[in-house]
Amino acid sequence: MRELRTKIKGILSTPSFDKEITVMGWVRTKRASKNVAFIALNDGSTINNLQIVADVEVFGDELIRKITTGASLSVHGKIVESQGAGQACELIASSIEIFGEADPDKYPLQPKKHSLEFLREIAHLRPRTNTFSAIMRVRHALAFAVHQFFNDKGFSYINTPIITASDAEGAGETFKVTNFELENIPKTEEGKIDFKQDFFEKEANLTVSGQLEGELAAMALSEIYTFGPTFRAENSNTTRHLAEFWMIEPEMAFYDLKDNMDIAEEMLKYLVQYTLDHCLDDLLFLEKREKEDEKNKPQNERSELSLTERLQFVLDNEFERITYTEAIQILKNSKPNKKKKFSYLIEEWGADLQSEHERFLVEKHFKKPVILYNYPKEIKAFYMRQNDDDKTVGAMDILFPGIGEIIGGSQREERMAKLAERMSEMNIPADDMWWYLDTRRFGAVPHSGFGLGFERMIQFVTGMGNIRDVIPFPRTPGNCEF
Ligand code: ATP
Ligand code: MN
Repeated sequence: MRELRTKIKGILSTPSFDKEITVMGWVRTKRASKNVAFIALNDGSTINNLQIVADVEVFGDELIRKITTGASLSVHGKIVESQGAGQACELIASSIEIFGEADPDKYPLQPKKHSLEFLREIAHLRPRTNTFSAIMRVRHALAFAVHQFFNDKGFSYINTPIITASDAEGAGETFKVTNFELENIPKTEEGKIDFKQDFFEKEANLTVSGQLEGELAAMALSEIYTFGPTFRAENSNTTRHLAEFWMIEPEMAFYDLKDNMDIAEEMLKYLVQYTLDHCLDDLLFLEKREKEDEKNKPQNERSELSLTERLQFVLDNEFERITYTEAIQILKNSKPNKKKKFSYLIEEWGADLQSEHERFLVEKHFKKPVILYNYPKEIKAFYMRQNDDDKTVGAMDILFPGIGEIIGGSQREERMAKLAERMSEMNIPADDMWWYLDTRRFGAVPHSGFGLGFERMIQFVTGMGNIRDVIPFPRTPGNCEF
């Protein structure tokens, strides 16, 4: 049996001096002189490395030479107070075992700054960098905090299906699921694809949202949330869209639109506070990284606040809540609109807001997170509750600095007649949706919910500009490696 391993995080936070321990991890750097080698070892438990001090004479040149960046080691020794600057303690090695060497001529990660673009090409190795291990720990903490937040409030975690026969958003951006032989797809007499012969005996796709099934559960358990993968075949090559992303979708019976906004704002603040409380080392590292990165950018592209200042700012301020109609007024009269700087000029009420407009409102006008509500019904989904003005629905989107839309939600239309009318106007086949409509036929109640894009939240908390850098293996048009 192998000796018990001590994790580096615990050693660095509460060192037990003169104790014999074993650590295991990967070499970040090695500096060797004739007599002594200093090895920075990282085991992923923390952003910080443990300094290993190895006597070259004791271990021999041959072994020390094999200890290169990327090699994996088990080291036994004693923790002592460090003589050098930069660390409080270090490990004096008494034995070293190399698990796996990493040929320095071939190992792609060298102790220097690599570009994020290059690291995307070696996504299988990038968790071994400081930046990506920090992001992955923050991602974990956020996932844990999501469950904590809803559990504390008495919500039930529901797993909605990943394979469905409905397209919740009606946007047609679905990936098909079939086990047809693609070279030989059965056809009907009319020459159409014969889905009756397919696995599910109907057309199926990967889910674009768990909302519709989430609503079914909320009509029994009152307050539920889903947290699962979501798939959209959108052809948008942006820094905020993935083909496979994770979404948190709470759905609450007896909540109106204002209750919905209140809990969404409370949740976002809770998540931010949680990472400040539990991931400060990682956040400070990412903050430093961002500062260095921004040195190469023109002044007007640098952020006014540092990463942790931005997080604190979200906690300290109430989100601005304005109607779509008010937002259109502001945008119409804005400088970039008048000077024709927007790619899509805002001319009249009813226009769909683009990311440039959302970011203007958040970053330039209000300079804080904004909740936009009561959107024109024409630009929103069929299930949103119709307002008395006959023009708008009880939708609410939350817009964040640097990100744009982070949450999309609404109060749902619980009135059967209104819902059926809207579905037929929008050509949503009511027959296929009989199970959804049953919740309006039997014991319907006012209810609300929203969807938080998990990766966009991680982007905000880590300050990463590209969504491909906050998920281990991004799926985007043309990218399905690893
Ligand atoms: P956008 O207009 O930015 O494409 P959307 O209106 O399609 O967003 P919703 O359908 O309301 O978004 O989805 C809810 C949330 O899921 C969004 O607020 C966003 O945080 C996230 N989201 C949506 N599409 C994607 C995507 N392709 N990749 C990552 N996150 C996404
Ligand atoms: Mn979209």
